[in-house]
Amino acid sequence: MGSSSSALNFGAGPAKLPREVLEEVQNELLSYNKSGMSIMEMSHRSPEYSKINTDAQAAIRELLNVPDNYMVLFMQGGGVGGFAAVAMNLINRTGTADYIVTGTWSASAAKEAAKYGKVNIVFPKPEKLGDIPETSTWNLNPDASYLYYCDNETVDGIEFPNMPYNPHDVPIVTDMSSSIMTKKVDVSKFGVIFGGAQKNIGPAGVVFVIIREDLLGKPMDICPSILNFTHIYKANSVHNTPATLSVYIMEKVLQWIKKNGGVEGMEKQSLEKSVFLYKAIENSNGFYSSPIDKKMRSRINVPFRVGGPNGDESLEAKFLEEAEKLRMYQLKGHRTVGGMRASLYNAVTLKEVKLLVEFMEEFQNYTLSKSNQTI
Ligand SMILES: *Cc1c(COP(=O)(O)O)cnc(C)c1O
Repeated sequence: MGSSSSALNFGAGPAKLPREVLEEVQNELLSYNKSGMSIMEMSHRSPEYSKINTDAQAAIRELLNVPDNYMVLFMQGGGVGGFAAVAMNLINRTGTADYIVTGTWSASAAKEAAKYGKVNIVFPKPEKLGDIPETSTWNLNPDASYLYYCDNETVDGIEFPNMPYNPHDVPIVTDMSSSIMTKKVDVSKFGVIFGGAQKNIGPAGVVFVIIREDLLGKPMDICPSILNFTHIYKANSVHNTPATLSVYIMEKVLQWIKKNGGVEGMEKQSLEKSVFLYKAIENSNGFYSSPIDKKMRSRINVPFRVGGPNGDESLEAKFLEEAEKLRMYQLKGHRTVGGMRASLYNAVTLKEVKLLVEFMEEFQNYTLSKSNQTI
């Protein structure tokens, strides 16, 4: 420990980026492609940036096996900007949309969409977070413009187990901000997949949108041009100045994913990491606990309490303090949830998760030996 390379970053986003990518960026920062200029200083209409834009789109297509009738767009405004964009581009079709609310981000998306059309919440808020009621009780509207869900609720640590029940075959829209490229997905089953890049595939500043072609072309009149999927598509994602540096770094992360086994490789690693951590939580005799039902537990964001199911706040503060002494950072849970949260995005290695678990075991042993009590 002690060198600048050894910090362990379990942050929920912006999050850890692959070291190799950052080194490559560092090497090229002052002179991109021997141009004597930084990529940051170049026109977004230059051949250099055009190539980056094209290569990034192609890498997403290749990694996710995107069918030809789907478009890949890059935008700004963050994941939250995407909430408004989805509604303003799609809700106009019938004036209404179905929202599955499983946590913080889908609730926020539904609230945003309600500004632009009628939002139907598919099931009431369950008593226990992460419970999904029987599909027979779902209130689905056959005339919905789309059916929306959040694939992975980053704040709460809830991952949607599969595709949602969709008997009327309405276009499915999903927020994959925190799960994109962590597992294989069949893009052809979706209308729109969107999200911010800053969790798994790049730095903040760029939003990816994968949209089925026939869903373009019907935005609301009030839709600002920078959130208009059709405009962005027609302009090949350079409608106005994109976050060029962010797209450039994202493109490098995508190449890094390709070199490291592609999405399949990421998925395998994601399972190994999360199983390892959840096992440690399960095997702690209740010293650590996960608030989320097993079926819904996220592979990517793992919230847990320290010192019992409701957490012992002074113990949790101590946990964070001791973790930071070992240079394990950003383990504090979201302010609305409390407790701890370890985010295991693509750039976080199994080795790093093992170090976290080792620390958790030591912390537990130390605490129990000191208090000489069992929890
Ligand atoms: C981080 C996140 C967002 C918000 O993204 P911003 O870029 O901060 O607007 C939305 N949805 C999910 C699932 C997220 O993880």
